[in-house]
Amino acid sequence: MTYTKIWADNENLSKEEKLKLEKDGLDILDDIPRYAREGFASIPQDQWNLFKWAGLYLQRPKEDGYFMMRVNVPSGILSNEQATTLAGIARDYGRDVVDITTRQAIQFHWLQIENIPDIFQRLESVGLSSVGACGDILRTIVGNPLAGIDPNELTDTREIVKDVYWYFQRNREFSNLPRKYKVSISANVNNAQNAEINCLSFVPAVKEVGGQEVVGFHMYVGGGLSAKPYLAQELDVFVAPEQVKEVTIAVSKIFRDYGYRDKRHRARLKFLMADWGPEKFKEKLLEYIALPSKGINRFEEWNAGYFYGVHKQKQAGKSYVGFNVPVGRMDSAELFELARIAKKYGSGEIRSCNSQNIVIPDVPDESVDVLLQENIFQRITVEPKNFIGYSVSCTGIEYCNLALVETKERMRQIAQYLDEKLELDVPVRIHMVGCPNSCGQRQIADIGLQGMKMRTKDKKMVEAFEIYVGGTLTNDAAFNQKLKGKINAEELGDVLVQFLRYFQEEKAAGESFNTF
Ligand code: SF4
Repeated sequence: MTYTKIWADNENLSKEEKLKLEKDGLDILDDIPRYAREGFASIPQDQWNLFKWAGLYLQRPKEDGYFMMRVNVPSGILSNEQATTLAGIARDYGRDVVDITTRQAIQFHWLQIENIPDIFQRLESVGLSSVGACGDILRTIVGNPLAGIDPNELTDTREIVKDVYWYFQRNREFSNLPRKYKVSISANVNNAQNAEINCLSFVPAVKEVGGQEVVGFHMYVGGGLSAKPYLAQELDVFVAPEQVKEVTIAVSKIFRDYGYRDKRHRARLKFLMADWGPEKFKEKLLEYIALPSKGINRFEEWNAGYFYGVHKQKQAGKSYVGFNVPVGRMDSAELFELARIAKKYGSGEIRSCNSQNIVIPDVPDESVDVLLQENIFQRITVEPKNFIGYSVSCTGIEYCNLALVETKERMRQIAQYLDEKLELDVPVRIHMVGCPNSCGQRQIADIGLQGMKMRTKDKKMVEAFEIYVGGTLTNDAAFNQKLKGKINAEELGDVLVQFLRYFQEEKAAGESFNTF
């Protein structure tokens, strides 16, 4: 392809880039049926990495041949059929674990290559796909989990998200990006999309055109977490809803053709943006598409993707109900049950949030009370306690090859412990991650906990955590700051109790962690 010429002649390409020029990541899709017939042993080790483009990662230890699969859920919206299909996959193949990720996707664990073709077929039959959920490609698109029902959205973004997502699905013009590429599109005024930590975000805005106020989007570019986090920067442009796809294509071309490919750790769009700055980026973007300058940003207070409780929809007589899924993990029976309840009382849809929780929409107001009586809502609660309700965790050492420590179950237990020991009048958002890659988005938490290994005085290697405090997005967005030292994982619960007791004693009534 001609566009690869732009970087293929670069003598300094990283080894990963050279491999990608030999074989496109999406080519693995052609090989999977054969590997499935011939078994895991037939897969050459140098092909393992390419499975990411199919949404598959080898779990630890890789040699055992078990895969994690991430399924894209654009905007977090699942139809009833899609939800039951996902539950069926977890029950039949995945040792019964369904994880909601911090980008509204669904993850399974313990899959074997023999079963992947059937899983692909099941996903495809209901319009779902894991392709592009991992790898150097446009990932699932984060959207407003309330799109179409949200009294706090400027416009319904469901069709825009779908249109962009399907344009990029399996699109070989964009299957070899320098690295992962995260896009969010939402018109929710409470920044449910966590705009500033995406590579590219479209956020709600208005502009006066011909004496009339029109609704559209502003753009944030170059955000991302991991070891060197950046907040995305706003470009001085206004994007009409019908231009979102073309603008996404243009930014993707810029990233594809100008993004860094010599050092893997500098390959994200955030590094290009940091070097260029918003003016130069805008100038380059305007070479692809004409855009007017920006209007008025319509962000209000950040909600961090939490929607607990019963809320009126924009449709009269209907409510949506937000529930806590503790640290985003459930089993297939729970997902089947949620789907049954969503169908019985609502439209059947279930929506996932980047806080790793769910929303059941379209419940007639008069059915809300009876819905809340269903047994499952003893655990998946509508009004969770302040710690378990606001705890987020990445996958951790149980499945993740890069993890340094256990996270998921540890975060759940610590949150439960904090709820037993402390009663605060405000929630405290705690995010736990098992390594600096920060899939659990620890930088934006009130309290971020980052796992590491530590040598004790008696020279034993143990699991430990660094503590970071004060992360927030929108209106003076800032990443949290590291406190001195590290804490042995065994002492983490008690240290947090002490720390939060201090917060409880010193703060004013109703004062939140961020204003403290
Ligand atoms: Fe794995 Fe690290 Fe991501 Fe956690 S943050 S899931 S440990 S890569």
